[in-house]
Amino acid sequence: MTFKATVLTLYPDMFPGHLGHSLAGKALAREDWSLDTVQIRDFATGKHRNVDDTPAGGGAGMVLKPDVLAAAIDSTGTDTRPRLLMSPRGRPLTQKRVREIAAGEGVVIVCGRFEGVDQRVIEARNLEEVSIGDYILSGGEPAALTLLDAVVRILPGVMGNDQSGVSESFEGGLLEYPQYTRPAEFEGLPIPPVLMSGNHGAIDKWRHEEALKLTRERRPDILDDQGSDGSN
Ligand code: SAH
Repeated sequence: MTFKATVLTLYPDMFPGHLGHSLAGKALAREDWSLDTVQIRDFATGKHRNVDDTPAGGGAGMVLKPDVLAAAIDSTGTDTRPRLLMSPRGRPLTQKRVREIAAGEGVVIVCGRFEGVDQRVIEARNLEEVSIGDYILSGGEPAALTLLDAVVRILPGVMGNDQSGVSESFEGGLLEYPQYTRPAEFEGLPIPPVLMSGNHGAIDKWRHEEALKLTRERRPDILDDQGSDGSN
């Protein structure tokens, strides 16, 4: 089954962007997943074909018009794919949500611009607001590319070594342990001897302890989450 992504944007040329390269790009060429863009401006009406207007109540900037956006969303059909709106007000994206999206048939993503979108279309079209972090981008496009990057890399067959998807940061509820490769010595620093011992039990134990230590130091918040469902 091909995972089907549809992105609504005022800047379709930004896609597939980096997703046209490397493993995601090869998977796109193989049609393991598909990416369609919808130009929101195509659904503007009236003499000036405006997509935005000034905020009701006053204030800076412009707001994407609900009628134009609704028409663009309705053009994507009535399938059961989740409809996301990239938004700094959204629920922060997690690996758990990424896995849920990747397990489905696809996703419809709306990219905001300007000051954002009219609240009524968010409600009327049941858009799930998703944030990629506590900072403000100038548009939803890089956020959509980021979300799709995270989803596409875990689709079946996209990554060469399927095992590498399982031991990443967050997948086991912990940050990843430190990685090393040859040369055996770099600027006087050796690879930790346990990794060269060939003792897989000892290696697994060391990696788990290092992962725990790093997570405790850097992200105690995800350790706290473990009590609830054991993953992030
Ligand atoms: N005035 C809005 C920000 C608008 S930024 C506010 O304060 O909430 C313009 C667009 O960029 C948004 O509509 C959204 O689509 C996108 N965007 C900005 N920051 C984002 C983030 N952290 N995560 C996801 N999308 C973001």
